[in-house]
Amino acid sequence: MGTEKIRCLILGSGPAGYTAAIYASRAGLKPVLYEGLQPGGQLTTTTEIENFPGYPNGINGTMMMEDIRKQAERFGTDIRFGMVSKVDFSHCPFSLFIDEEKELEAEAVIIATGATAKYLGLPSENKFKGMGVSACATCDGFFYRGKDVAVVGGGDTACEEALYLSSLCRKVYMIVRRNVLRASNDMQKRVKNIPNIEILWECNTLEVLGDDMGVTGVKLSHKRGENIEKKIDGFFLAIGHHPNSELFKEWIETNEEGYIITAPKSTKTNIEGVFAAGDVQDPYYRQAITAAASGCMAAIDAEKFLLG
Ligand code: FAD
Ligand code: NAP
Repeated sequence: MGTEKIRCLILGSGPAGYTAAIYASRAGLKPVLYEGLQPGGQLTTTTEIENFPGYPNGINGTMMMEDIRKQAERFGTDIRFGMVSKVDFSHCPFSLFIDEEKELEAEAVIIATGATAKYLGLPSENKFKGMGVSACATCDGFFYRGKDVAVVGGGDTACEEALYLSSLCRKVYMIVRRNVLRASNDMQKRVKNIPNIEILWECNTLEVLGDDMGVTGVKLSHKRGENIEKKIDGFFLAIGHHPNSELFKEWIETNEEGYIITAPKSTKTNIEGVFAAGDVQDPYYRQAITAAASGCMAAIDAEKFLLG
């Protein structure tokens, strides 16, 4: 199989990748986009999206991504199923392999491979994903108004999620595996001052309990040895995210958590001609709208690189 030459290659089909595709195709860059294993990205794993502008009544995540995909296709983006399995960014045009067989040469590359929330890895947690188990309180907290929920983790994200949920829910348990929080002092103080947040110190989750309707409780083991059960309707993970950047690490600078480092107010990486957009380069906001916005920036940066 011969090497295919591509002008602008986009990796990933979340809000960042598809938005980059809309802009790059309208700019005449004839982009080719590889979707990866999760066409449509993380939003296809949730139900209702209520905070993306333009949908006054909310929209189903999969439907929204289908709409953005169609918009990219309308301007001529070549969208393909396939996963980048190897890259060589030592020279431009860059060399990439799709599914370990097809070789591409690309003049510019936009990395929009997203990030994956970490889960505990319990079978019961997997069983109730989307039925009470969530890794995004900003996205799904609304569905638990007036109910009891738990947040796993003791970092800044867990504290932020607990604070957010405390204004919606009756009770928020924080499940913390040590006897201290990892979060900043300020965040710790804020959490400890909210009356409906209760920290369950030195606890690990043994099982998420539930029935056909979804989550009903959680079983924990305390360091002292006893098991504890709490009734809850929502179980939120806030134990960190993995940016999907492993493939590029040999060439592209990342921070210590693996997020790709981009130049300030730009999507440029340390390699000229390689740009990064969306959650793969965003340790902080991690929202669909911010991912889409940086996809737009990456296409404009790629256009300047290719056309001068
Ligand atoms: P992603 O959506 O993560 O997409 C990454 C893409 O890269 C995927 O298509 C994947 O297949 C592809 N990919 C990965 N590796 C490769 C590879 N090697 N080769 C080719 N392609 C690859 N945000 C909101 O604003 N509102 C919400 O309501 C909301 N709800 C959420 C609910 C859940 C359950 C989750 C998990 C997240 C939610 N978010 C929400 C966050 C939002 O989904 C992300 O911020 C957003 O999807 C990030 O977009 P992205 O394009 O950077 O990456
Ligand atoms: P983090 O700082 O790595 O914290 C992860 C938390 O999850 C820790 O409390 C950790 O426990 C716990 N944890 C990890 N694996 C676990 C497991 N298997 N079981 C139970 N608990 C587990 O991650 P983060 O909170 O997402 O923050 C990431 C970065 O973003 C940090 O630098 C943070 O400061 C920053 N951030 C900042 C803000 C802000 O400034 N407002 C908001 C959000 C995030 P241990 O402590 O025991 O390891």
